[in-house]
Amino acid sequence: MAESVLMGELSWPEFEAKTKAKAPFFLPVGATEQHGPHLPLNVDVVLPTSVAVAVAKNVGGVVAPTIPYGYKSQPRTGGGQAFPGTTSLNAHTLSLVVRDVIHDLALHGVRRLAVVNGHFENSWPIVEGVDLGVREIRRDGIHDFVVLRLEYWDFVRRETLDRLFPEGFPGTDLEHASLLETSLMLLLAPGLVDMSKVPSDGPAKFPTYDRTPVKAGFVPASGVLARAQGATAEKGKWLFDDHVELITRAVLSEFGGQGA
Ligand code: ZN
Ligand code: MN
Repeated sequence: MAESVLMGELSWPEFEAKTKAKAPFFLPVGATEQHGPHLPLNVDVVLPTSVAVAVAKNVGGVVAPTIPYGYKSQPRTGGGQAFPGTTSLNAHTLSLVVRDVIHDLALHGVRRLAVVNGHFENSWPIVEGVDLGVREIRRDGIHDFVVLRLEYWDFVRRETLDRLFPEGFPGTDLEHASLLETSLMLLLAPGLVDMSKVPSDGPAKFPTYDRTPVKAGFVPASGVLARAQGATAEKGKWLFDDHVELITRAVLSEFGGQGA
């Protein structure tokens, strides 16, 4: 049996051997969130997990089980909480889950961890969780634990975005369920994509502020904030290759490869 990069598929002695070898660990953090009528609710789980697995293979790393729930979807970045199936955590709940997981990983010998975020709204609750976790880990007398925290979508070349958006990149927040996520899903989980259901009620035109309660019609009814037309697996490959290559480079520059 080939040894898996998934922590959940290792036995405890295999896990322990990985920590003794100072393997980098990865913790993907996702969401269960609507992604329009053409994509499943697990997009923000599939994408950071797939990126983390590919990077882990490059660096002799291990991927901890993905956290499948995220912070609340916001109207201007994910359509908001009103869509059926969008199931989220309070910010402090997510922070405490991140805190607890990284604390136990460190207690069991993990010393290099990259938290790979897959859902826009998770960023600050993860920052908080990492801070709380690192404080606890230090109180436990562990002072050589290093954690990277990143959004996978930031690791993309300018040339790739120019190729994907000849008329200008609309920005990651508006890209929800749109060209980038749809192309990546066509590459990584094509059986979960139905291109015949791609809607055409976007792109959203949002003001530069939030309003509560949200007015009717504020979010495109489909839940797709920009446009998914033109998404292809080939475009997904351009993106995925950038994400994996650039994150691998960052991890190697911080952690080096797997130790002896
Ligand atoms: Zn998403
Ligand atoms: Mn999301």
